[in-house]
Amino acid sequence: MRNRKPIAKNLEAARNASPAMRVAFPSVNELRVELEFDSADKWAPAAQVHILHPAAAATFRYPCPISGCSGHFELDSSINSLLNRSESMLADDATCAGVRPEDRSTSKACALHLRYRVEATYGSRR
Ligand SMILES: [Zn+2]
Repeated sequence: MRNRKPIAKNLEAARNASPAMRVAFPSVNELRVELEFDSADKWAPAAQVHILHPAAAATFRYPCPISGCSGHFELDSSINSLLNRSESMLADDATCAGVRPEDRSTSKACALHLRYRVEATYGSRR
């Protein structure tokens, strides 16, 4: 057996990490995830664009951009189902269920509103 062994220091990280895009979704060439935030406050966090290539980990969990908020946006199930169906576009929204530091005493939900848009491009091997 001549299996290539991972470098020792990466062993634990590799064990805990999600598989790479090229393993989980081999037909995907590029995945573009756009995040836009609506806030009831005057200030809304800046929009984000994440581009995932085949070497990137196939995980779609984004922390709430409000400083110190305990929440995150879990987009794994919607993006996984998009990619499993080999569809190219998805637009949906989500609400942060985390709690901001200033609301810790009351546990009031952050409720930051996320609108997201995902575009997948596929390689020739479909
Ligand atoms: Zn939040």
